[in-house]
Amino acid sequence: MNLSQRRFCNTLTKADVGNKVILAGWVDAFRDHGGLLFIHLRDRSGLVQVVFNPEQADAATCRTAESLRSEFCVAVSGMVIDRTPGTENPHLDTGTIEVMAQTLKVLADSAPPPFQISEKEMVAGSVTATREDVSEELRLQYRYLDLRRPSIRNNMIARHKIYQCARRFLDERDFVEVETPMLTMSTPEGARDYLVPSRVHPHNFYALPQSPQLFKQLLMVGGLERYFQIARCFRDEDLRPNRQPEFTQIDLEASFIDEEFIYELVEELTVRLFAVGGIELPRPFPRITYDEAIDTTGSDKPDLRFGLRFVDVTDIFSDTQYTIFRQILKRNGCIKGINVKGQSEKLSKNVLQNEYAKTIVPSFGAKGMTWMRVENGTLESNIVQFFSDTELENLKTRFAVEEGDVLLLIADASYDLVTSALGQLRLHIANRLGLIPKNSWAPAWVTSFPLFEATDEGGVSSKHHPFTAPDRTDFDPHNINDLLALKSRAYDLVMNGEELGGGSIRINDRTLQRKIFTALGLTEEETREKFGFFLRAFDFGAPPHGGLALGMDRLVAMILQLPSIREVIAFPKNRSASCPLTGAPTPVADKQLAELSLLNLGNQSRGAAAQITDSISTLSWLARIAVNSTERPLIEKAVAEADALADFAAANAGSEEPMRTVAPPAGQRRPGDTAIANSAAAAGELLKLAPATKGGYYKVAAVME
Ligand code: ASP
Repeated sequence: MNLSQRRFCNTLTKADVGNKVILAGWVDAFRDHGGLLFIHLRDRSGLVQVVFNPEQADAATCRTAESLRSEFCVAVSGMVIDRTPGTENPHLDTGTIEVMAQTLKVLADSAPPPFQISEKEMVAGSVTATREDVSEELRLQYRYLDLRRPSIRNNMIARHKIYQCARRFLDERDFVEVETPMLTMSTPEGARDYLVPSRVHPHNFYALPQSPQLFKQLLMVGGLERYFQIARCFRDEDLRPNRQPEFTQIDLEASFIDEEFIYELVEELTVRLFAVGGIELPRPFPRITYDEAIDTTGSDKPDLRFGLRFVDVTDIFSDTQYTIFRQILKRNGCIKGINVKGQSEKLSKNVLQNEYAKTIVPSFGAKGMTWMRVENGTLESNIVQFFSDTELENLKTRFAVEEGDVLLLIADASYDLVTSALGQLRLHIANRLGLIPKNSWAPAWVTSFPLFEATDEGGVSSKHHPFTAPDRTDFDPHNINDLLALKSRAYDLVMNGEELGGGSIRINDRTLQRKIFTALGLTEEETREKFGFFLRAFDFGAPPHGGLALGMDRLVAMILQLPSIREVIAFPKNRSASCPLTGAPTPVADKQLAELSLLNLGNQSRGAAAQITDSISTLSWLARIAVNSTERPLIEKAVAEADALADFAAANAGSEEPMRTVAPPAGQRRPGDTAIANSAAAAGELLKLAPATKGGYYKVAAVME
């Protein structure tokens, strides 16, 4: 059989009836029908039924056919024939024809697969396992088999089509595809870096890029004017369900442009990409400022497929006698609510009071929720008696109430808490009551983000990244309030409550860029060390520029209407950031560590912990915090006390129940023992060399060996 002449299974049609064809693929399913043997042959294109009939094929071929099992890799030659009327399979594209086999070659046999790969019934109406029947861990462990499943394979092919569409479009618009380095310097996107040790430069590390941000801006300084890349990015972030440590962005940047250029370009790109999935997006995409998004939906990635926008009613209660509201307003708080139109039947008093007010809303961080139902033209609830007639009338007008409406209000001294809790409630109610229209798409631009956000340490950090242009330049980099009032020229593209991407117009003025670094609390020296090479480029005529990156995995998942991005990634990591297929991450041999000079880092070698006899050095090694000579005696004293306590506990073992607790050690003392405050610790004199502090805690490496 000459495989170069093979046809793809799914390309066979009635027009091929009477033709001899060569096919190759895998046995999807088989069925023995008293002398006649049927297989579903699967290749990348789809399925076709192959029949082995002792009257048409020789005995040896039929014997081989009988030995076929699921996932054997085979080549077949035979004649395309019409199916006998009544035996057509409507589940197959090729269901009106079949191939009468003449020869068969087993190219490779297969062990029984750990899960069923076939997704199509051989006989209409019979039950076939669906993907959900198999645990994801097993699927990922055998991803190469999972990829044989038509649904996953189709996801890969669709992803490819989406990529090609993006490439074609950006090429049409004069964008140049450029690859930027993987082994590089840290790029600030707010996550931790994945570091790669350098063998040739002992104790020096590359960082894998969190994004190509710095390089794409340098490409603009380099005069490329329009760049794009389908870029792999790496971020060592806390695990979240729909996150991957490595992910793909369509990353782009352009010079001599403004926001409008990006909006037009990216809208057209997004419309075309969704069209690959047969989805028609409405254009132009609406724009909403960050403040408005928070104020009306409680989210900076608002789901605009449904209403339930927040209504502010703070002013209605400015003179209220209702104590709870009065106290909240005295503390400068606010009251916001949503009108769940015509849903009072589904939201009974019992559900509102016992489920929402007592349990669900407190789980969103609010202390409680006020509810009112519109019954016979009046507002009913367990607290309306505390409201004045004017307050009730004003509520009715403000919410434009109608019979059957349900008002849900959240009040708190903190605006952030009210908007966040009401935002979660808005989504909860919409999902529960089915208020989100199926197959609807609500793209929008969120604009005018704050440039900075406050940090726990009393400073500011960039909301987007430090290269984003502010809306004005006359700010004082040392005045926190001034900084927090700044808006940025950043924009996010959101859809259906998800962020699809974001970007900004950048700073192209070196003085302004330095001012931003100062605002971020970086000293001249730190700035030079981290971004010297970057700032230097801005000494040489950097053009005005801006760009954006779209999260490809999420975008593809959304276009294909799949809930998880792992369905559109060929070899994803699982929820704990490891790869069930390869087992990565894995330990490495000491020899490799030694080659990378990692065995003797800071004189604290990996295997050496056991040999460190001095307990302070052991502790220091474990905690990855160097202890200086002033701290050492203090820590020695604390350790000696802890040792004494341990000795005491050991000596008294048997007389008292041993302590078994996973609670924090604070307060876990034996009866009669008194707390000893460590004045040096309280004065902040201890552990000055800790890598970072947060609140009252020292941040140390998460791994304890
Ligand atoms: N580098 C940014 C990000 O990864 C996108 C951009 O500003 O273009 O979010």
